[in-house]
Amino acid sequence: MPATSMEELVSLCKRRGFIFQGSEIYGGLQGFYDYGPLGVELKNNIKAAWWRSNVYERDDMEGLDASIIMHRQVLRHSGHEATFSDPMIDNKKNNKRYRLDHLVKDQKADVIAKVAAAMGESAENFPAVVAALNANPAQASQALKDAGVRDPFSGEVGDWTEPKPFNMMFKTTIGPVADDESYGYLRPETAQGIFTNFKNVVDSTSRRLPFGIAQIGKAFRNEITPRNFIFRVRELEQMEIEFFCTPGTDEEWHEHWLEKRLSWWEAQGVPRSKIEILDVPKEDLAHYSKRTYDLMYDYPTLGHEEIEGIANRSDYDLGSHTKNQSELGLVANVEENLDSIAKLTIPHPETNKPVVPFVIEPSAGVDRALLAVLSEAFTKETLENGNERIVLKLRPHLAPIKVAVIPLARNKAELVDLARSIKSDLQKLGLGRILLEDSGNIGKAYRRHDEVGTPYCVTVDFDTVGKGDDATLTGTVTVRDRDTLAQERVKISELTAYLQAKLK
Ligand code: ATP
Repeated sequence: MPATSMEELVSLCKRRGFIFQGSEIYGGLQGFYDYGPLGVELKNNIKAAWWRSNVYERDDMEGLDASIIMHRQVLRHSGHEATFSDPMIDNKKNNKRYRLDHLVKDQKADVIAKVAAAMGESAENFPAVVAALNANPAQASQALKDAGVRDPFSGEVGDWTEPKPFNMMFKTTIGPVADDESYGYLRPETAQGIFTNFKNVVDSTSRRLPFGIAQIGKAFRNEITPRNFIFRVRELEQMEIEFFCTPGTDEEWHEHWLEKRLSWWEAQGVPRSKIEILDVPKEDLAHYSKRTYDLMYDYPTLGHEEIEGIANRSDYDLGSHTKNQSELGLVANVEENLDSIAKLTIPHPETNKPVVPFVIEPSAGVDRALLAVLSEAFTKETLENGNERIVLKLRPHLAPIKVAVIPLARNKAELVDLARSIKSDLQKLGLGRILLEDSGNIGKAYRRHDEVGTPYCVTVDFDTVGKGDDATLTGTVTVRDRDTLAQERVKISELTAYLQAKLK
């Protein structure tokens, strides 16, 4: 059974070294997390699985790694300077600040109903309620007070200001000159690096429509209220594809990607039955979107929340960057001279005339993926002897440690040396991390490796080296299976082939 509460996951992550609070020794920095020894392995494995499936296993994809800090013109003309904001609202009684939609959503049902009624909307259509609150700030402030909206911090009814937009981009100065022009933005999505390199990739690879560009990287959002562990953070990582296609084929490709992405999640152990597909209502679409499917995973404690967005971004971004380069005098008059000078176009596959392609964008968060994968793998079992064990039933390709090699006694050089050499041989298979676990206590080692999801433990004991009770076991080791708990004696000479087959 998967995790039933977020606390269970948070506690496991901290206890076993998956995730720590960022800047913890100085009191922590809200919305920032550090991935520890096991977290970094799990994260890398998720990213590798995504890259394998979306880049290596397709014939219509290229990869990219663009810089994080971007020219302010990019984010201006992408529309982010004007619209990448969330509505914030303050409680005048204690100066606490909240994201408006989160504040209202977390109220009791009768309070939400009162707010909705005051704004002339139905509580069933929450995005419409939020849209009405944003559009009418003065009425919103009054509606929240009249409905008795409580401050989550104090628990009392707040004295609410008018909501106003808060831009979530992090701005930073560039170079030693501190004037008003010398700044850039930390990208709020990796996508813009793909759009600005569109022409470079097309020219250097001779790609024709349809094809995609994939990228994994950090993005930064100055969330008003980061919360729910790594679910909503200020420094996040995204796995994004911009898939370019001929206008008119976009809706078909949108369905293709929805299907592809759902099967990818399934292969990571996140079943379709746990993901709801939200066809995002018009009033809730991002500024660039023609249509978006949000994949809503059923997180423990949180319920259904977005794990991935699959947007039809139309020709918005490439069109906007092309047009604006023209306005800035970087490209002369695009509309009239599209054939010769337009930068972000590609020949139409049938007419060969330059066309600004449409874009389908599957965009998944690595942090939210990791949380979902952990949550599905988390299992509490009662063993035959009545003891309880926690085991992470991760798919082997995601497990942070593939095999732990354990010498039965840490102070017997013969056992430790043999274990080290077995570890070294297994490591050469390229399966991922193999760990020499010489902490000494076999029971504790098994418990630890169950909890961190190590699929196999290999134990080197006195029989292995011919100093036990059973001479027939010389040259063999015990292989313990995480899920079945079965223990099998395997010849050292056959161990690599045995584990390779199991971990494939
Ligand atoms: P939300 O509505 O939850 O704020 P969003 O619609 O703004 O998310 P997108 O802009 O579609 O998110 O970003 C694509 C993906 O990036 C999301 O599906 C999510 O997995 C991830 N993501 C976005 N914001 C955050 C964040 N603050 N922390 C962690 N992951 C995030």
